[in-house]
Amino acid sequence: MKPEILEQLRSVFNGDMYTDPVVLKEYSRDASVCEIIPQVVLCPKTIEDVKSIVKFVSNNSGLSITVRAAGTDMSGAAIGESIIMDVNKYIQGIVSWGTIGKNEAEITVLPGTFYRDFEKETMSKGFFLPSYPASKLINTVGGMVGNNSAGEKTLTYGQTEKYVRSLKVILRDGNEYFIKPLNKIELDKKLAQNDLEGELYKSVWKIVSENADEIKNAKPITSKNSAGFALWNIWNDENFKESDDFFDLTKAIVGSQGTLGIVSEITFKLVPVHLKSQMLVVFMPSLDPIGPLVKDILTFSPTSLESYDEETIKLAVKYFRDLPHQAKWWSFLKLAWDFMPEFQMVRSGGIPKLVLLIEFTGDTEDEISEKIKKLDALIKDKYYLKTEYVTSPSKAKKFWTIRRESYNLLRKHAEGKKIATFIEDVIVPPEHLPEFIPQYREILHSYNLTYSIAGHAGSGNFHVFPLMDFKNPEHIDNIIEISKKVYNLVAQYKGSITAEHSDGIVRAPFLSKMFTPKTLELFVELKKSFDPQNIFNPGKKVGATVEYFKNHIIRE
Ligand SMILES: Cc1cc2nc3c(=O)[nH]c(=O)nc-3n(C[C@H](O)[C@H](O)[C@H](O)COP(=O)(O)OP(=O)(O)OC[C@H]3O[C@@H](n4cnc5c(N)ncnc54)[C@H](O)[C@@H]3O)c2cc1C
Repeated sequence: MKPEILEQLRSVFNGDMYTDPVVLKEYSRDASVCEIIPQVVLCPKTIEDVKSIVKFVSNNSGLSITVRAAGTDMSGAAIGESIIMDVNKYIQGIVSWGTIGKNEAEITVLPGTFYRDFEKETMSKGFFLPSYPASKLINTVGGMVGNNSAGEKTLTYGQTEKYVRSLKVILRDGNEYFIKPLNKIELDKKLAQNDLEGELYKSVWKIVSENADEIKNAKPITSKNSAGFALWNIWNDENFKESDDFFDLTKAIVGSQGTLGIVSEITFKLVPVHLKSQMLVVFMPSLDPIGPLVKDILTFSPTSLESYDEETIKLAVKYFRDLPHQAKWWSFLKLAWDFMPEFQMVRSGGIPKLVLLIEFTGDTEDEISEKIKKLDALIKDKYYLKTEYVTSPSKAKKFWTIRRESYNLLRKHAEGKKIATFIEDVIVPPEHLPEFIPQYREILHSYNLTYSIAGHAGSGNFHVFPLMDFKNPEHIDNIIEISKKVYNLVAQYKGSITAEHSDGIVRAPFLSKMFTPKTLELFVELKKSFDPQNIFNPGKKVGATVEYFKNHIIRE
C-alpha cells in the first residue's frame, strides 16, 4: 500500500495501525492451512472508527477489508491481502439486556466480545447462547455470527442463525444499518425507499422472489450448514405476509464471513440453563453399528450426542498433564484418579474405536434418569456395547474435557507435523454414517495419514484432523486431491462440505460440489447487491479458486 494512502488512512480513525512485519506475520494466519500477509492491520477503537475506515476504503479503489475477531477461523476467512480490521481488541462488551422472560431473554453485545466473557454475563441471569462452539474459551460472538457457528448443544438448539434477533451492520457506504426480520408492510416500506437501503432490499427481494424454486431446492438437507449464503432462509413463499419474519435479511449476514458488511452490534435471543444434566457414555469397539445406533439414540431426544476416537484417547492419556485443570495439586491428583479407566484401557489394549457422549438435561434428576436407564438397556440389549452412566458433574467433566481438547492435544503433540484443517467439518445425514465413515477413512488411509476424529455424532458432523508435514511439497497437491475426493463423497450422500466452520478460502472453491451453477450465480448476485466494489473480504464465499487456495497453503 502506498505510503500516502497509509498516511491518509491513519488520519481517518482512532486506534492502532500496524505495518510492522512481525505484526503482519501474526495476522497472516488463522486456524486454517492458509497464510496471507496483509498490507496493514487496523484496530479501531469505536464503531465510528469502523465506519470511517469503510468510507475510506469505498472511496479508494484497490483496497479491501477483512474483518477479524479472535482469528480462530478454520477456513482461511480471517486472513486477507489488503486491510485486516481487528474488532476484538477494542470493540468489546455488553451493550444492554433486553426483555428477560421465563423461557427466553434478549441481550445486545458488541461483536469483538469473547464468548467466555459474554457467557459469564448471561449465566449470571440463568441464560445462555446454546450455539457456542468447542472453541468457546478463545472465540468471539462476532466470529460466531460470521461463521454461523454451532457446537455440542446444537443437536437440540440449532445454529447461531436461530439466535440472532437483529443486527447493526456497517454497509458499503460506511453507515450503520439496523437489520431485523420484517413483516410484509415493513418490507414494502423498505422497497419504496430511494436510498442505499431501499436499493439493497429491492435487489435481494428480486433475487429471492424470482428464484424461489431454485433456492428452495438448493437448501441443504443436513441439520446444520454453513456453506454458501443462506438464501433459503431469507424468504420463502410459504411465509405468511402478516408474520414478523416474512423477510429476514439477518439470515444473509449470519454465516457470510464478513463478505457483505461489518457487523457492529448483535442482539441475541438466549435460552434458560437447565438445572440438571446426566450423561451416558458408550464405548464402541467398532464403528459398524454407528448408523442404526445413532438413529436409536436420537429417538430419546438427548441434548447432546458427541464423540471422540481412539487416537484422542491415546493422546489424552499420554499427555493428561496438559489437560486444563485448576492449579491446585489436589485438582491434578483428582484428574489423574478420574483417568484411571483410560490408563487401564491403554494398558490392556482395550481402547474403543469411538466413544459416544450422550447428555440429557432437564429440571429434575428423575426426569433424566428414567430416559437414560431405558436408553442404556436398549444399547446393551440390542448392540451389546459397554456403557457408563455418569451422574456426577465432576466425572462428566473428564469426558467433556477430552472431547473439547481433542484438537489441542493433537496440535500440541503433532511431533514435527501440523494439523491440516481443510476437510474437517463435513456433515452427512446421520443415517448414511455406516457407509460414509469407512469410505471417508479409506480416502485418508490411501494417503497414509494419521488423524483424529471427534465431533457431533448426533447430526452426522465429524471433525477429522489429519497430521501433515508442511515442509513436504507433496502435501499441497495432497490437500487439493483429498478435498476433491472427500467433497465428492459428501455430495454422493447429500451432505454439506461445511456444517459450522464455513467456506473461506479453503472450501469456497468447492461449493460447486454442493450447489448448481444457477445457485452459485445467485450467491454472486447477492454479494454484488451488498458489495459491488468487492471491498468486504474478497475471495471468500464467492470468487474463490482452487489455484488461490493452493498458492496460499502454508509451506513451513
Ligand atoms: C480448537 C478449535 C475448535 C473449534 N470448534 C468449533 C466448533 O465447535 N464450532 C464452530 O462453529 N467453530 C469452531 N471453530 C472455529 C471458530 O473458532 C469459530 O467459528 C468461531 O466462532 C470464530 O470466532 P472468532 O472470534 O475466532 O472469529 P474469526 O476467526 O476472527 O472470524 C470468523 C469469521 O467471521 C468474520 N467476522 C468476524 N467478526 C465479524 C464482524 N464483526 N462482522 C462480520 N464478520 C465478522 C471474519 O471475517 C471471519 O470470516 C473452532 C476453532 C478452533 C481453533
